[in-house]
Amino acid sequence: MLSGRAWEAKCEKTMSASLKALARAGTAPYLFTVISDPAQAAARLCMDCGLCCNGVMFDMVMLQPGDNPRALKAHGLKVKRREHFRQPCIALCGTQCTIYQHRPTRCRLFECQQYQQVAAGTLAEAVAKARIEEVKQQVAHIEPMLEGISGSNPRKSLSQRYASSLAEPVEATTQRAELIEAMEKLQGVLTEHFRVG
Ligand code: SF4
Ligand code: SF4
Repeated sequence: MLSGRAWEAKCEKTMSASLKALARAGTAPYLFTVISDPAQAAARLCMDCGLCCNGVMFDMVMLQPGDNPRALKAHGLKVKRREHFRQPCIALCGTQCTIYQHRPTRCRLFECQQYQQVAAGTLAEAVAKARIEEVKQQVAHIEPMLEGISGSNPRKSLSQRYASSLAEPVEATTQRAELIEAMEKLQGVLTEHFRVG
């Protein structure tokens, strides 16, 4: 497995190559254009979010009929038993999918509530962005607590790290209680405003 620094370097290189490819295809300016169309406002949300890929919302992505496990593996995804891969997704670089054109079906179809409402024109982009920021701040509050209890493991989802932390014999019960309260609050926001179905 790559170290943190090696992964960051690989990630930067991949993003640079992706942007060059988009520029060659004549689509790079689109990424930086301010657009007022609701569907494109929703697409803009994802550019700065990544919560459905980084292990905050989900633990894994299930492959669907028509997905090609070998092809996805060739793009770097760690597909297990030809049926799923775990999150945080290895293809995520910052908040960007580095295999966007080749992402599996579930990723193509998933739209969180915030995305759907902005795309439908029933929610202001600014409100959705504020909710995404709120979630990121909640995660930033939880991360050090998890790290303090069960150590750092950036390759595990937030829920997995939370479960590991609860399994630790933590002496300071106030620390444990604070973690539980923060995680329950986060899950409440994710369920109410992001998850679907
Ligand atoms: S959680 Fe919603 S806004 Fe964020 S990247 Fe996923 S679909 Fe886009
Ligand atoms: S393949 Fe891309 S869209 Fe799918 S989980 Fe990974 S980073 Fe997200």
